[in-house]
Amino acid sequence: MSMTADKPAHLKPVALKTEIAVDMIGVHKWYGEFHVLKDINLHVKRGERIVICGPSGSGKSTMIRCINRLEEHQQGRIVVDGVELTNDLKRIDEIRRDVGMVFQHFNLFPHLTILENCTLAPIWVKKMPKKEAEEVAMHYLKRVKIPEQAHKYPGQLSGGQQQRVAIARSLCMSPKIMLFDEPTSALDPEMVKEVLDTMVSLAQEGMTMLCVTHEMGFAKQVANRVIFMDAGQIVEMNTPSEFFAHPQHERTKLFLSQIL
Ligand code: ADP
Ligand code: MG
Repeated sequence: MSMTADKPAHLKPVALKTEIAVDMIGVHKWYGEFHVLKDINLHVKRGERIVICGPSGSGKSTMIRCINRLEEHQQGRIVVDGVELTNDLKRIDEIRRDVGMVFQHFNLFPHLTILENCTLAPIWVKKMPKKEAEEVAMHYLKRVKIPEQAHKYPGQLSGGQQQRVAIARSLCMSPKIMLFDEPTSALDPEMVKEVLDTMVSLAQEGMTMLCVTHEMGFAKQVANRVIFMDAGQIVEMNTPSEFFAHPQHERTKLFLSQIL
């Protein structure tokens, strides 16, 4: 299924304005005294898929949460599609609209139906008419293969289905960049594949993606680059084939020996 062919305007993918989708330059962050991100330099090109792995507590979530300002960095620069993240709230809103995020725990609104979860932001943030928002929502619910669940509530769906709703909900905002933070790690094993399949199809359609995941099969299949983080630093960054075949650092080798 292609996202581009014969689509009404509101279903057309939105192109990034700049060649560099995300630029992190000398980024540092502290939680109080704790130095959580140390000199992060990362340049993500339009259409690139980056997989980020590393031990628990290494700063992976913090790093990607800085990209849509769910966390604030204290030093260095973060530029998203040409817009620098500063305290300017208007810019932060603009960036949040363009950058979709999918979390480990789906974060759906339990008291709203699947369809309402998907139409909420387009209606309230984008001021889209309800009928059009529902059309968009059904389009993406079909894409993640659960249109028949539209009128149910999140609690009536399996974890894998809820995570696919969360992805569809993000797509309803026509994001230019998608961030995934361990989207499959709260799922039962039999549901991991259905969510990964959805992510693979997004990748194949050219979405710029940064994914924190330990699903190394996914990394091999779709990533342009794999990043290994430890103790707040990017320790290693390479193509998947090089990364897995010839890890450079002891810490990377140790990590890979534990997860593969
Ligand atoms: P990862 O996603 O790689 O597991 P995180 O980015 O969640 O790592 O966390 C990195 C470190 O920062 C951990 O030691 C964690 O305990 C700490 N941390 C995360 N969030 C906060 C916070 N809001 N306040 C203080 N420390 C935090
Ligand atoms: Mg995390």
